[in-house]
Amino acid sequence: MALTSPLQIYDTLARGVIPFRPPAGKKVTMYTCGPTVYAPAHIGNLRTFVVSDWWRRTLEWSGYQVESAMNVTDVDDKTIKGSREAGLPLAGFTNQYEKTFFADLESLNVERSDIVPHATEYIKNMIEMIKVLLAKDFAYQADDGIYFRIAKVKGYGALAQLKNQPSDDKETPSDFALWKFWDEADGEVSWEAPFGDSLANKAGKGRPGWHIECSAMIRAVLGDTIDLHLGGTDLIFPHHTNEIAQSEAVTGQPLARHWLHIAFVNMAGGKMAKSEGNTITLADIINHGFSPLAYRYWLLSAHYRTLMNFSWDALESSAIALKKLQNRIADLTTVQHSVLDKVGTPIIEYLNKFTEAINNDLNLPVALSIVWELLDDHNFAPENTLVTILEFDKILGLDLISATQPLAIPSEVAQLLADRESARGAGDFARADSLRQQITTAGYTVDDTSDGPKLRKI
Ligand code: AMP
Ligand code: ZN
Repeated sequence: MALTSPLQIYDTLARGVIPFRPPAGKKVTMYTCGPTVYAPAHIGNLRTFVVSDWWRRTLEWSGYQVESAMNVTDVDDKTIKGSREAGLPLAGFTNQYEKTFFADLESLNVERSDIVPHATEYIKNMIEMIKVLLAKDFAYQADDGIYFRIAKVKGYGALAQLKNQPSDDKETPSDFALWKFWDEADGEVSWEAPFGDSLANKAGKGRPGWHIECSAMIRAVLGDTIDLHLGGTDLIFPHHTNEIAQSEAVTGQPLARHWLHIAFVNMAGGKMAKSEGNTITLADIINHGFSPLAYRYWLLSAHYRTLMNFSWDALESSAIALKKLQNRIADLTTVQHSVLDKVGTPIIEYLNKFTEAINNDLNLPVALSIVWELLDDHNFAPENTLVTILEFDKILGLDLISATQPLAIPSEVAQLLADRESARGAGDFARADSLRQQITTAGYTVDDTSDGPKLRKI
């Protein structure tokens, strides 16, 4: 795609919008901190993964070959607690939520990451890193586990600018567990490890801390330095701060060239969190009669660094707008067919404008407004407009290609439509109205246009 301006991103470490600095060559590695699979993901979690998908598409649009990874946190305090409460083995418990999670991503049109490492498959890698940290004196053994010594890291907490923040308890940095020795609350969950003295803790048997999981998986699947690391804003501290401390203490290399954080989705009245008991899932959205892509469209309405307040009214407006967009695409397709299926050429002027918007730290609200601007700009042949918008959809991911497919009209609906036309022709408007009602009940609307009646799916 034509590059108008270089890609700029807001880098949390730099605290500003800076040019994306890829290494030499066209390959880019990205890692997104994935879900903790102990409950269904809520729509706030899902925003992180939709935005991550938009970044991946943007990098590809810019001509990079992207290698992406997103982990699954399938062992931590919450998964262990949940599995014990449910009376299920850990893997059986986490599998069900993992399945739902990936089904959610699929219906949101989020492309699956190239690599999906599971924490439980990389325990050896975690142990290896902890051994190095112990050997370098960045870690020490306590009664209940192995801890990371933050005092040994110069500039600890730079990502979170810890020194500039008022510190309450949660914000106060402290040494954190790399490995937790087994205790009863862990039940069946433990791995052998060469730490500690064998009497006190059964030869170090235990499980990893959450932060070391990501450090070890990143290193194992993408290498010592990745190009882009993503996650929700809540991960800046402590999770990403500690990932940096551990990984860099082991490798001596920067963990990530760029750090990118995605703002939360809140409920109109406050935080959305499992702990607050006010989460909304994609299943709730579907049960309210909305398509998952209406949620994706709603996410386009704010910049990814802006906090969004979810409301059903706002989602409804997005659903209506998406439907309108699909109808406009269908209309363009009809016109295109009537001009003998001419293959269009993308309109450079609009491609450039769109690229400008996404290259400006992924300004998707502006990019979306350019779609509508083009639809209202009648200076271009419909086939060119169509092809340009389908090009934009490579980033937006709204599955607009589906709107170009001819509508498969069931024969009974076609019959109702034909009967309605005859009733109208005969001046029997009461019958025509009743037939229209039946068509609506069957899930279609009729627009009477100058080219005759047009059916659309509701
Ligand atoms: P978790 O499953 O809790 O580990 O979270 C998965 C991802 O969702 C992480 O990147 C979190 O930062 C992110 N996240 C958690 N809560 C929200 C929220 N309310 N809005 C947006 N992202 C969130
Ligand atoms: Zn992580």
